[in-house]
Amino acid sequence: MDATKSEGKGLVLVVEDEKSIADLERMYLTREGFGVHVETDGRAALAAVRNLHPVAIVLDIGIPTIDGTEICRMLRADGDWTPIIFVTARDDEIDRVVGLELGADDYITKPFSPRELVARVKTVLRRARGRPEEESPLVVGSLVVDPARRKVSAAGRAVDLTATEFDLLAHLCRRPGRVFTREQLLAAVWGYEAAAGTRTVDVHIAQLRAKLGGVSPIRTVRGVGYSVEP
Ligand code: CA
Repeated sequence: MDATKSEGKGLVLVVEDEKSIADLERMYLTREGFGVHVETDGRAALAAVRNLHPVAIVLDIGIPTIDGTEICRMLRADGDWTPIIFVTARDDEIDRVVGLELGADDYITKPFSPRELVARVKTVLRRARGRPEEESPLVVGSLVVDPARRKVSAAGRAVDLTATEFDLLAHLCRRPGRVFTREQLLAAVWGYEAAAGTRTVDVHIAQLRAKLGGVSPIRTVRGVGYSVEP
């Protein structure tokens, strides 16, 4: 017996700006017993994820306002591990999905058969049930960032951070050595809706460094942005 059937299959968010494809996806997923909500642009899709809590997202990469890969990055940085299946239209998009370790669960290339899509959705849902709920602590040198408990310690000393400072530090620590631009950090931590300018990032980095003191691993990459050193 299919376990998902007895539990109710839940809502799948389809993000697709080509109406004919969205209609097809909706039809096949609905036929399988999923609820389906369609958005046609990135900004609306992000809002839908936060408001509707879909069980999976079928995410076209080439969509208006916020690109599909950026949506995935923003959700993962937020600790949101809703399964994502990317829909790619071109080879270079596949390279981005595979190469950037975006935290996607699967991808499917246009043109695809709707049956294939349904099979992928079922597979990621099966896999997602085995995923641990809590993200394990991030360790960078003597710094320990615990996303599940939202606690930070530096050289064994607890450090009190604001919610934004915490999110900024956790985002940097999830990818030690990777350099983030101020724009990327703004998008990931504050969201595009924020009226904050890139100067805001500098201010929060300065506060983080002051609180972390001598063990701060945050490095300024002149003309680019910030990273934490592994
Ligand atoms: Ca598209």
